[in-house]
Amino acid sequence: MLSEKLQRAFNEQINHEMASAYLYLSMAAYAHSMNLPGFAHWLELQTKEEKGHAMKLYKFVNERGNRVELLPIAQPASDFKSPAHLFEEILNHERKITALINRLYETALEEKDYAAQVLLHGFIEEQVEEEATASEILETIRMAGEKGHALIMMDRQLARRGMH
Ligand code: MG
Repeated sequence: MLSEKLQRAFNEQINHEMASAYLYLSMAAYAHSMNLPGFAHWLELQTKEEKGHAMKLYKFVNERGNRVELLPIAQPASDFKSPAHLFEEILNHERKITALINRLYETALEEKDYAAQVLLHGFIEEQVEEEATASEILETIRMAGEKGHALIMMDRQLARRGMH
């Protein structure tokens, strides 16, 4: 079983992952409203991925014989000004998630829960990728500009994102 402290921390992280899924879905809706179907596609896959993270944590808590308690999800932001601003928000958001995962890992260390530590290694690795991807896309948008042809090309590139 997870300790009470760790169980609480896992419940909170499930909530952060679901809130991330909700935020990306709100961003996808913004992209649709801007006629950027490639951005929307990329963001919808991101939503799926975040839900996948929440489910991985959910499964782990169940397997350990604890009970998941779902916490409320606040209304996500819905106005993002521009595509560059959108990816600034994504990068900031993923940095916050990284800090939360690191804190959860610290709790797993304090509680001497080795199985939780092993599970969280995957999450720590994932965050390196999440930040790198967001930063790369943001840099490309900044370099190419976010209007006209450059924006259409970016939208086409994001439309090509595969299952993950
Ligand atoms: Mg995540």
